[in-house]
Amino acid sequence: MPVINRIAEFHAEMTQWRHQIHAHPETAFEEHKTADLVAGLLESFGVSVDRGIAQTGVIGTLKGSLAGDRAIALRADMDGLHIEEQNDVPHASQNHGRMHACGHDGHTAMLLGAAKHLAETRNFAGTIHFIFQPAEENEGGARLMIEEGVLERYPVEAVYGMHNWPEVPVGQFAVRPGPMMAAFDIFEITISGRGAHAAMPHLAIDPIVAAAQLVSGLQTITSRNVHPLEGAVVSITQVHGGDTWNVIPDRVVLRGTTRSFNPAVRDQIEPAIRRIADGICRACGAQMALRYERRYPALINASTETEIAAATAASIVGESNVKRDLLPSMAAEDFACFLEQKPGAYIWIGNGTAEAGGILHNPHYDFNDEVLPLGASYWVRLAESVLAKERASASPT
Ligand SMILES: [Zn+2]
Ligand SMILES: [Zn+2]
Repeated sequence: MPVINRIAEFHAEMTQWRHQIHAHPETAFEEHKTADLVAGLLESFGVSVDRGIAQTGVIGTLKGSLAGDRAIALRADMDGLHIEEQNDVPHASQNHGRMHACGHDGHTAMLLGAAKHLAETRNFAGTIHFIFQPAEENEGGARLMIEEGVLERYPVEAVYGMHNWPEVPVGQFAVRPGPMMAAFDIFEITISGRGAHAAMPHLAIDPIVAAAQLVSGLQTITSRNVHPLEGAVVSITQVHGGDTWNVIPDRVVLRGTTRSFNPAVRDQIEPAIRRIADGICRACGAQMALRYERRYPALINASTETEIAAATAASIVGESNVKRDLLPSMAAEDFACFLEQKPGAYIWIGNGTAEAGGILHNPHYDFNDEVLPLGASYWVRLAESVLAKERASASPT
C-alpha cells in the first residue's frame, strides 16, 4: 500500500507506542500516564507542547518550513473504557477493569506517528495543532476543551478527526458529507405507584405493569411520530424494580438513550417521551418523573473538508478504496462538538472485518496494528495538502 515510506520505516515504533498505551488504559480525565507519554514523544520530535487542557488534554503545535497564517487542527482521543479485557496478548490491559476497546490507543499512536514525520519534514506552510483529547467516551472531553477556549487559544480554519471502523476492511476509508454519527441523549423515567402484597394487586398501583406498557409505548415515537425517512432510535437499556417474588414494588426506574441526526427530530423526542410516559402512568394511576439530558450533538461533516479528506485518503489507498456511500452510524462521537464550532471532516479508517470480538466496545477488541502507517500517512498528506506551500507562497504578503 502506498503509505509514506518514512512512516513505514517506523511502523514498529508506532506499534510499540500503541501497545504501551493499550497495556495502560485510562478513562475519562484520568489519562495522566497517556498524556505523559504523548507529551514526552511530541517534545522529543521537536513539537511544542501545552498540557492540562481539559484536565489531561495535550496540544502539540508545529510550524511548517514556510511561514503562513493558516492553521488546522488534527485530533485524536486518548481515553479507554470501563471494560475488563479478555484478550490474551502480551500488551493486554494491566489496569483492572479498564480497556482500550474503542481503538483510541491506535488513534493516539497514528497522530503521534504523523507528528513525528511532519516534524522531520515540515513540508507545509502555516501551523498544525495536534489535539490529544481526553474523555471522548461519555464525558465530553471535546466540549470541555472548547469551553476552556481551545479554539480561541489555537485558532484554526478547520478541524479533522478519524476513527477506526471495524466494518470497513483494512486499506479502505469511509467518509461522507453531512451527518455521519448521531446525536446522543440519555433519559431516566421514575414511575411511582403503591407497593403491596403480590397476592393483593387490587391494593397496589403496580409500577411494573406501567413500566411494561411504557417500554412498548415508547417505540411508537420512532414508528409513529418521527418522519419515516428520518433516523431516530429510542432504546430502554435499564429496568430497575422489585426485590422479591411476592411483593409489588412501589417504584420502577427505566433508563435509556436516544439517537437522532436532524436537530428538529432531536427536539421532537423529549416531549414525546414525556407525553407517552405521563399518559401511560396516569392511565395506571401512577406518577412519573422524567430526567432528559442532552449529551453529544450529531456529527456533521462540512462538504469542502469532506472532499479534501476523501481525496487525501484516495491518494493513499486509491479512489475505489474510499467509500463515500456508507450509511451513517447511530453511535455518537464528541468530535461533533468541534464540528459545531469549525468546518471539518471526520473519517473512518478500516480496521478489518468484524470477526469474533472484532467490534468496538467488545472485551475481545484490539486495534489492528496494520492500520497504523495508513492512518499516519493520511494525517500527513492531509496537513500537507490543506497547508500546501504553493497556496501560501502565492498569496501576496
Ligand atoms: Zn467508543
Ligand atoms: Zn471511539
